[in-house]
Order: sequence, then structure tokens, then C-alpha cells
Amino acid sequence: MSDNYSRQLQMNFENYSNQFQKQLNSGNFSILFEFNTPDIKLDLNDSANRVKDAVSAVFAEGDLSTGVSFFQNYGNVQSHNPVEFGRILVPEEERSRSVIYLSGRGNSLNDMYENIELAMNEGFNNIIAASGCSMFNDSVRSTRKKQFTESIHLLNKVKNSSLEFKKKICIGTTFNPFKYNLADCTNQYFKLVKKINHGAQFIVTQFGWDMYKMQELRWYLTNRGFYYPSLAGILFLNPSRVEKIIAGEYRGVHISSDFRKVLTNELRFSTTQFEASQWRRLQLQVAGAKLLGYSGVQISGLDTPYKINVALRKIKDAFAEFNHFQYWRSAYEEYLGRVEMAPYPQRFYIFEKLLDDAHLTKQPTISDGNIPECTKREKIHYYLAKFLFGKSQGRRIATEHFISKKLFASCRSCKSCRLPQFHYLCPEICPKGFANGPCGGTKVDGKCEVANRECVHIKRLKLANWRGNVNDLEEIYLQSGKVRK
Ligand code: SF4
Repeated sequence: MSDNYSRQLQMNFENYSNQFQKQLNSGNFSILFEFNTPDIKLDLNDSANRVKDAVSAVFAEGDLSTGVSFFQNYGNVQSHNPVEFGRILVPEEERSRSVIYLSGRGNSLNDMYENIELAMNEGFNNIIAASGCSMFNDSVRSTRKKQFTESIHLLNKVKNSSLEFKKKICIGTTFNPFKYNLADCTNQYFKLVKKINHGAQFIVTQFGWDMYKMQELRWYLTNRGFYYPSLAGILFLNPSRVEKIIAGEYRGVHISSDFRKVLTNELRFSTTQFEASQWRRLQLQVAGAKLLGYSGVQISGLDTPYKINVALRKIKDAFAEFNHFQYWRSAYEEYLGRVEMAPYPQRFYIFEKLLDDAHLTKQPTISDGNIPECTKREKIHYYLAKFLFGKSQGRRIATEHFISKKLFASCRSCKSCRLPQFHYLCPEICPKGFANGPCGGTKVDGKCEVANRECVHIKRLKLANWRGNVNDLEEIYLQSGKVRK
């Protein structure tokens, strides 16, 4: 960073008061509206003009604590820089109520860090580090060609930055609690803990509709003694979004066949009736999140001033209507609770008796279930690879054991070998090259978001469990191994 740039940062830091962070810390329920940063092929100013009245409507709200967030590289879109988009749309005095997402797809660690500096220079000090999803229909090969940076590396870099910098930034992370396969669910929580240990200050969930899974996250954090604010992701559905979810275009978002039937039924009615069902769903989700101890919600899919205003009115009504957990619980049961939200046959929940109470007041009952065992073949592979590559760590692959590593571990010539730390699997088997845990896009059965095979992190979990060092998965931090072109 140039001296000039550092000076500008220092200037902006003076008298800075971070409204979003204050809301999180004071327990004041936050309502963020998410706007997607437009495709790089579209004109940025034209796109900003289209949503500027909606953004103004968010900031005009006087009773609720509101803010906006700007997403980068969503779905199949390669977007403009979200900081640039935010700069056009958000007046300087409202920027501390705004959040900028930085995606690891298509960005190196340095790109992401420079974007944080840019964001802070513009007065956006609330950042969410996201690893990024693959594009719909991407193959393993095309995914490998893209750059992906795990969000944990950005968290780690911020954690190791100067004290002055850390005092000003409020950095959070994403998490997908809607996992119904025991091994996948376990892995996702290990990774979340690792991200918290590397500096994530708050959590925003993937959007989903299963309030049992929403509570699972709150209970998990409380049970582990992690008192971190979390925001529940909510997607306001319309017919086109329903179709896209069913087609698998939203990575990591699944709906059960039961819930699909409910939505298909709603689609049979008029658009007005369909929308009325979605408003009711939104009310139940927002009120439920508040009662379950979430610090706020992030709502996607509302981008006109009219819809923002209706949402705010409905949310106020919902807070008035559901002022007690039991009232909310009965309404949720009546409206959605009897719908099986788990995508059968996968239906694992970490705890029993979820939604019996709003908060965890005693030791929760952990559900039965074990991490699946490794196969004989996986065990033999482990022993053989350990014998051959037990001392490989950190050595240059190209010069040592390359052929055998290629044969036994699908070696991809990383700049630094991590086989011994990764239970003798190569993390580069993951099409995104993630070494610290799974992305949020795993399929319902724990298969890879891109490849038609088990996520490599589930394979590793099984090996770690067999070797008796499963807790290492939330502790050992692995550097990125390969510079991707
Ligand atoms: S192997 Fe796992 S972490 Fe990697 S892309 Fe596939 S699902 Fe995501």
C-alpha cells in the first residue's frame, strides 16, 4: 500500500463509528437487504440507477435497524467490484450500516485484501469473506481453471494485520447450516469453528427455510461457548427462483420433495396469492430468527422500493404478532412445521428436541449417529502413502517422488506438499483446491458440488476419525498449496 493510501485510510478512521457493528454488539436486531453487484458486462451506473430508490428506501426506515449488503460474483455472474457499486449507491454517512461481500471466486488473496483496503478507504468497514461457488454447469476441468481463494485465508491475513487495521474492520463469514448428511454437517461445523478461530466476528447463513437447522446453528455455537452474532439468510421466493433452485442453479441450496410440493401448490394460484404466501413465510422466518437468538437477518430478492417498504411493514407486524416463542412456534408448525424440510433419505440434525425451546438452557441431547467408516481400500491407501510420503511435507513435489505421488495421490505439483497434513489425500483433488474444509455447496448426500464423487473433505473426515485425530480438522490451518492460473 502506498504512503498516500495509508494516510487516506488513517483519515477515514478518525471519528469512525461503525453502526452495523454497534447493532450486532448491542443485540439490536439488524435487517440487511442484499443487492447483487451487476454483471461486469452491464453498465455499472445504469444498474445502480435501477436499484437506487430501493437502497434509499432501506435507509429511510426510521424504526428498525436496517442496512444493505452488496454481493460479489453470485451464481453464474462475474460481477463488477461491489465496493464500486456500493460507493455509487450508499451516501457516505450510511456506509457504516452497509456490508461488502468479497468472493474468493476469480480473486487471489491479494486481490481480496486490496479490496478490503479499497472498501475501508470508502468508509465500508464491514466485510464478509466468502469462498465463492462454482458456476452452474461448470465441469471439474473448468472449475480447476478458475481461481478460488478460501475465505479462511482472508480471515487469517486480516488477523495478522496491524492492530490499528483490525480495530477498524468488522469481518464476518458465511456458513451453510442446511446440511442433512452427518459427515457433511460435521465437516461444515469444523470449518466454521476454524474460521471463528481465524478471526470471523460474525456469521451470515446461506438462505434456507428449515427453522430447525437455523436453531441447530444457534445451539451449536452456545453449546461450544461461542457467543458470536449470526444473521439468518432469507430468500424471498418468486416463481423463477423456485425453478432455479429446483434445477440446482443455486449452489448449496436444496429443497425437500415435501417443500417442493408446497411451493408447486402455491404456484398454482394467482401471482398475488403466491406472493402473499411468500410474505407470510418471510414474516415467520424473520420473527423466528429473532426469537431464536439471531442478531439479524439478511434478505435477498427484494429490489424495488415498494417491496422493501412492504417487507419492513410486514416485519414490524410480525414482531408485534409473535412476541413470544410459543406463539411463533404454533404458527410455524401450522404453516410449515409439518412439512418435512429434510431432503429424504438425508435427515441428520445434530440435536434432538430442536424448537422445543427458543434457547439452550441445559445440555442438549446429541442425536445418534456415527461418522461412516473408511473402506479397506482407503485404509490400505493411507498406510502405503504414509510409508512413501511421510516426510514430504513442505518439499517441492516436482523434484521428489513425483511419479509415485502422481500415481498414489493424484499429485498436482503444489508449491508446497500438504499430503502428511491432509491424511495422505491431496487437497487439490477438490476442484476448488480447498484444504481447510468443505465449501457450502456440497450436495445433499455429501457429494462434491462439481464432481460426481464424495467431497474430498468427507473422505478426510473418515480417515481422521479412524486415526483418532478428528478434532485436528477444526484446528490445523493449511496454506493454499498451488498458485492457480
Ligand atoms: S470437493 Fe468438497 S469442497 Fe471441493 S468443490 Fe467439491 S464439495 Fe466443494
